[in-house]
Amino acid sequence: LIKIRDIRRDFRLGSEIVYVLKGIDLDIDKGEYVAFMGPSGSGKSTLMNLLGCLDTPTSGTYILNNRDVSSMSDDELADVRNTEIGFVFQTFNLLPRTTALDNVALPMVYAGSSKTDRRKRAEEVLTDVGLADRMDHKPNQLSGGQRQRVAVGRALVNKPSIILADEPTGNLDSKTSVEIMALFDEIHAAGNTVILVTHEEEIAEHAHRVIRLRDGIIESDVRNKK
Ligand code: ATP
Ligand code: MG
Repeated sequence: LIKIRDIRRDFRLGSEIVYVLKGIDLDIDKGEYVAFMGPSGSGKSTLMNLLGCLDTPTSGTYILNNRDVSSMSDDELADVRNTEIGFVFQTFNLLPRTTALDNVALPMVYAGSSKTDRRKRAEEVLTDVGLADRMDHKPNQLSGGQRQRVAVGRALVNKPSIILADEPTGNLDSKTSVEIMALFDEIHAAGNTVILVTHEEEIAEHAHRVIRLRDGIIESDVRNKK
């Protein structure tokens, strides 16, 4: 599903170049459940943004579903992002004046689906994430955990190949984190590929493979027996 070879990403800051990812090789198969860990600044979010096609590498190749996304134009990338990737953020990133239903349906607008299809699918997804009774609520009428459920629903709506989540429980209390992780476990059990970033060992234990980054390289890559 994912094949990454010698990915590097650096950023130019004035006259200085900051080397963030320093040569990453990585294969992830369909159906895996992966957690990235590592110190702050080690490059986790930078790597997630590359995986999610929100950013492109300075050098190296990224093959997603047998297509080289590292050499695509912005338009092609936007299309891959909308159809292949579901991204969940630490800060939810929902549209504030828009109902849960319309937030979830938004990626389908970009995909060109009809209004009837959008409504039907968004209702189905919101039911799956446990928000059947909150469809017409706006983000500020929902709890943090419910907002994250909406964000997870939005990530799932176009049936992407990969679900990416950068510290999805980072803004949630521990009880709500447990509930959100149960939701990710369900999504994985339904056959999805799930890749997340976390600072917490208890969260990482949900995954079947833990990859640790340090200073822009992969320090360890361990599969557990689950
Ligand atoms: P955290 O655990 O705190 O979220 P992280 O592992 O996700 O950390 P990244 O956000 O990937 O870390 O950042 C890695 C390094 O890259 C940091 O030193 C950061 O300052 C630098 N960096 C990230 N994006 C940019 C950018 N657009 N321009 C310059 N430097 C950047
Ligand atoms: Mg980060």
